[in-house]
Amino acid sequence: MLLLALAICASAAGFWMRFQKIWLRIIHSKKDPGFALTHLGHRSWDFFWEVLCQAKVIQQRPLPGLAHAFVFWGFCAFALVSLNHFTAGFGCAFLRSQFYFLFAAVFAALVAVSIFGLFVRRFFVRPVWLGAKVSYESGFIALLIFALMATYLGAFFVPDTSVAARVLWWLHSLCILVFLPLIPHTKHLHLVLSPLTIFLSRGEFSAIPKLEGDEDFGLVTGKDVTQLVSLQAYSCVECGRCTEHCPASNTGKELNPKEIILGMRGYLNELGPASESPLLGKFNSMEAAFQCTTCGACEFQCPVGIEHLPVIVGLRRGAVNTGAWEDEYGGKLFNTLERSGNSLGMGSGERAKFIQKQQFPIFDGTQEYCLWLGCMGAYDPQGREIINSFAQVMNYLGASFGVLKKEKCTGDPVRRLGNDLVFQQLAEENLENLQQNKVRKIVSICPHCVRTISTDWKDFGTAPEIEHHSEFMARHKDKLPKSDGDQVTYHDPCYLGRYRNIYDEPRALIGNLVEPPRSRERGFCCGAGGGLTFLGEEKGERVSHARAKELTATGAKTVAAACPFCNSMLKDALAATANSITNSPPRLVDIAQLVASRLNH
Ligand code: SF4
Ligand code: SF4
Repeated sequence: MLLLALAICASAAGFWMRFQKIWLRIIHSKKDPGFALTHLGHRSWDFFWEVLCQAKVIQQRPLPGLAHAFVFWGFCAFALVSLNHFTAGFGCAFLRSQFYFLFAAVFAALVAVSIFGLFVRRFFVRPVWLGAKVSYESGFIALLIFALMATYLGAFFVPDTSVAARVLWWLHSLCILVFLPLIPHTKHLHLVLSPLTIFLSRGEFSAIPKLEGDEDFGLVTGKDVTQLVSLQAYSCVECGRCTEHCPASNTGKELNPKEIILGMRGYLNELGPASESPLLGKFNSMEAAFQCTTCGACEFQCPVGIEHLPVIVGLRRGAVNTGAWEDEYGGKLFNTLERSGNSLGMGSGERAKFIQKQQFPIFDGTQEYCLWLGCMGAYDPQGREIINSFAQVMNYLGASFGVLKKEKCTGDPVRRLGNDLVFQQLAEENLENLQQNKVRKIVSICPHCVRTISTDWKDFGTAPEIEHHSEFMARHKDKLPKSDGDQVTYHDPCYLGRYRNIYDEPRALIGNLVEPPRSRERGFCCGAGGGLTFLGEEKGERVSHARAKELTATGAKTVAAACPFCNSMLKDALAATANSITNSPPRLVDIAQLVASRLNH
């Protein structure tokens, strides 16, 4: 008994000595401005669904996900059994139900098979996104878990009072006592932290926190790392799901979202949250931070609730707001937006001429909708075609709309690139303009405008209700002519899909749909987001080319998109990649053009 008591104390002390250091780093990080423990119902649901049901883990990687889920459920079932195991060592076992022991035995068998499968996958199949380094600690822990289950099951086959039973009892105890102190030293810390991480999430996809006061520049040094960022950094299970789906990582860039999170962890381990050393340097690189398209695939995929975008955009903010980021194209974009108010750098007279030529009504408060042109719709030739088509659809449906005489960029690229000053100016000027014009409902062809107006402008005021043109057209689809039956493949814009959860509406406007291999929540970015469309040449393969090849390979003669930025990226990419698969690229259209083309038939 004394030996057992000493072993338990040593194991618990081993756990606590390391865990308390991590916990103190999390607690001593800066408080998250604006975070409140509200929406408890929503949080409880996420906890139930993502932690207890392991739904996300299973949905996104069914076979290994199910294996992982069995290990988790087995751990839950074993909590009572393990407690009983040690109390039995002191002669006061409390669990008498044979049914429960058999119930746990079923889980023991499932866990043993699952952990063996996960071991084979990690050490023999070796998916690339797990990284080149072989994690021997993971192998050792898998062995411990397997032994834990084997010793439990073995005890069913030997008499309770036999020597074999005592040996199995001690082996089982040793497995638990060795496993416990290893938890905070390894990625298995997620067992303790991830339920908390999921429960304490910011509650919104890609929630970029509001800067607090004049001294807040984003993530510059350890002092800016917030408690949520620290908690998330220590929760990463290093599964590489984020990397597997990242368009930058998939096309040979330096950026690897898993390494961004592990970089934050490395910084906290070595320097702590009080450090004034820059966050961008030894642990995370500036180049990687500015290769992100903000597509959100990483954040969507993460099974333990890690929010990558507040970190990546936070690092960019820190670099831009302190003047540390020097980039010719970025600087040009910032100047252009300050000078001309649109990201394409055109004179506002060009917009006025376009409106006049198309004879668009000017919004005067009597129309139901304000048709937001956006930079692409007002100045870009392809974007103008999309606006013209959508205006035709609105006219066909008899919807009353008008366009604003003046409009500035919503500030989407500067928001994502981290220039808060220019973003604030643009958001405030636009909000004032909309208020003066008494706009109540906006419809836009651009998912980036929709996201920025509906969510990011909240930092500076209340914007009118806004919807994407796919939502508007899908609502009226019964009044629109049906599809002509040609095969069409559809590219999900990240800012419409993952950011707004709009997947079915554009599809409802396409008749004969051929899905590309990566679609809906798993859609692959076009490479434009995060302000990257305005920056210089990409390293490695172009993201748009990788996507264009996939779309072409579906064999559909038409590619439909629902974002003028996707449209612009894919146009060149489809032409450039055409020869490798087929001689002529598929036709590229926006869904508004697809619908408008049916109106006159
Ligand atoms: S947001 Fe997209 S591009 Fe950026 S790190 Fe995540 S997956 Fe990669
Ligand atoms: S950040 Fe999330 S998805 Fe990426 S490796 Fe860590 S746990 Fe996995």
